[in-house]
Amino acid sequence: MTRRRPGSCAIPSLAQQQPFFSGGDAARLNADFAAAAAPALLQAALTDPRFGCVALVSSFGAESAVLLHLAARVRPDVPVLLVDTGWLFPETLHYAQDLGKFLGLTDLRAIRPDVDRLAERDPNRLRWSFDPDGCCAIRKVEPLDAALAGFDSWISGRKGFQSATRSHLPAFEDGGAQLKINPLHRWTAADVAAYAAQHRLPPHPLIADGYSSIGCSPCTSRTRPGEDPRAGRWRGWDKVECGIHKPLPGSDPAF
Ligand code: SF4
Repeated sequence: MTRRRPGSCAIPSLAQQQPFFSGGDAARLNADFAAAAAPALLQAALTDPRFGCVALVSSFGAESAVLLHLAARVRPDVPVLLVDTGWLFPETLHYAQDLGKFLGLTDLRAIRPDVDRLAERDPNRLRWSFDPDGCCAIRKVEPLDAALAGFDSWISGRKGFQSATRSHLPAFEDGGAQLKINPLHRWTAADVAAYAAQHRLPPHPLIADGYSSIGCSPCTSRTRPGEDPRAGRWRGWDKVECGIHKPLPGSDPAF
């Protein structure tokens, strides 16, 4: 890995567009941090210059408070990006504001789709109903890619237990232009619940209404006992990720 712009989070100039990380860096980091628990991974990710400029991406969903709490203890000023697709539940938007204040996060950024792209590709707001991949591309993937352009690494809250397609989740992934860091990759549902209870973290209000994974309102349904926590996402579609994350090699298909 090269050290092109340590400590700097400015938008890169055209001359600086080469990636901070190269292929194979994730495998080396997975070996280096093989024994590291989530707090140690986050401590490194948020303070070690080798990770460059780091953002945390959060959906402010059902389990987001745990990662955000861990991060806020290290760096409450870490940029926290929420992709506001235009279809989030109002409860999620309120929860993001309230939880951000509760945790003392000082740099919460709402990332929104480009209005011209929406007018061109989704003028009636119905693309989710016939082309969810295309809808996610313009409402999630493209805005996040643009927002991450000034960062070298980003932290996600994914966990291996959430679905069959995430069961092989590593701590570090080569994610294209940025390194992706998954500090909670080994956490179980019981770990998450215990941590949230221990620190009295406020839950997303829709959990009590039967939602175990919370994304956009048209594409999120309640889960039934025994289902994967993410089974309520894009129910009925052969789709398990929004495009920000890809199903991992070797994972079982969820459908
Ligand atoms: S989750 Fe649904 S509404 Fe949200 S961006 Fe994807 S397809 Fe569109």
